[in-house]
Amino acid sequence: MKTRFTELFGVKHPIVQGGMQWVGRAELVSAVANAGALGFITALTQPTPEDLTKEIQRCRQMTDKPFGVNLTILPALKPPPYAEYRQAIIESGIRIVETAGFKPKEHVDHFKQHGIKVIHKCTSVRHALSAEKMGVDAISIDGFECAGHPGEDDIPGLILIPCAADKIKVPMIASGGFGDARGLVAALALGAEGINMGTRFMCTVESPIHHNIKQQMVANDERSTELIFRTLHNTARVARNPVSQEVVAIEKKGGAKIEDVAHLVSGQRGKVVYEAGDPDHGIWSVGMVQGLINDIPTCSELVDRIMGEADELIRARLTRMTAA
Ligand code: NAD
Repeated sequence: MKTRFTELFGVKHPIVQGGMQWVGRAELVSAVANAGALGFITALTQPTPEDLTKEIQRCRQMTDKPFGVNLTILPALKPPPYAEYRQAIIESGIRIVETAGFKPKEHVDHFKQHGIKVIHKCTSVRHALSAEKMGVDAISIDGFECAGHPGEDDIPGLILIPCAADKIKVPMIASGGFGDARGLVAALALGAEGINMGTRFMCTVESPIHHNIKQQMVANDERSTELIFRTLHNTARVARNPVSQEVVAIEKKGGAKIEDVAHLVSGQRGKVVYEAGDPDHGIWSVGMVQGLINDIPTCSELVDRIMGEADELIRARLTRMTAA
């Protein structure tokens, strides 16, 4: 399948594995690249910019295919040195970056000065348009179904993707709620040039998280997520568990500050979920798409399956319908 996205980024398939805190490590990203899709190392998962440099080198030892680095700018308990991470990305010779979050301009400008292709992930048409003005090469438009931070507008992909497609000129990929061939074909019909998948790639053999968490995702259905940080205007879709339910209960009382929930939501605590395999230990990001996840394939099995079934869907099902 050739789209403006595959042509521009030199990847075989119109499938992206975007940034995922604690998950976007070299094992997963190289497996995604070797499967012919575009993976991103998550910069802030590495404790320091020097560690990021080493992670990029480690990934290069595992694949000779293109991959990128994600840099996400969101409120943090201890704000990371973004400019130093950015410099490490540039000095490592990375050619593709995924930015996400607030005020990416300074980062986009610097990456573009170094000829790096930038995909900006955002959750509204207005932010996509402003990123396009900054000179990004592509947009990843992220619907309300997504894991992590869906923004505050609550517009699901079925509306957000065509609304964005009507206005955005650069290639656009669709993000949030994608996990199979039906989603890919739907995204193409809605005006996207490919899809971004996070949760679905989290539940693969090469994903560097504990097997228990993968099994929990298979067991969970589409209702098993919770929206936290609504009252802090930093909404995050995460797994429903006693910790996320406690955060929501504290927020419902009114007037909650980040300090009131910090002990529950800290990323360091969420990291232990993935390492120790206890799904109730802390907050972990997951999307509604877990309702469509029934197995733990390798990245290559997953990508081949999606591309094979998409071809079948387009050639057999849709063509048969229109030919009738
Ligand atoms: P952390 O421990 O600093 O914070 C935990 C959560 O609390 C995060 O969701 C964060 O956005 C939120 N938070 C922190 N301070 C806040 C405030 N003042 N107001 C509202 N919300 C607040 O986060 P971490 O897990 O160590 O992650 C480090 C950074 O990476 C955070 O900014 C996080 O949001 C971001 N992140 C990146 C990705 C990605 O895919 N790259 C995914 C999720 C989160």
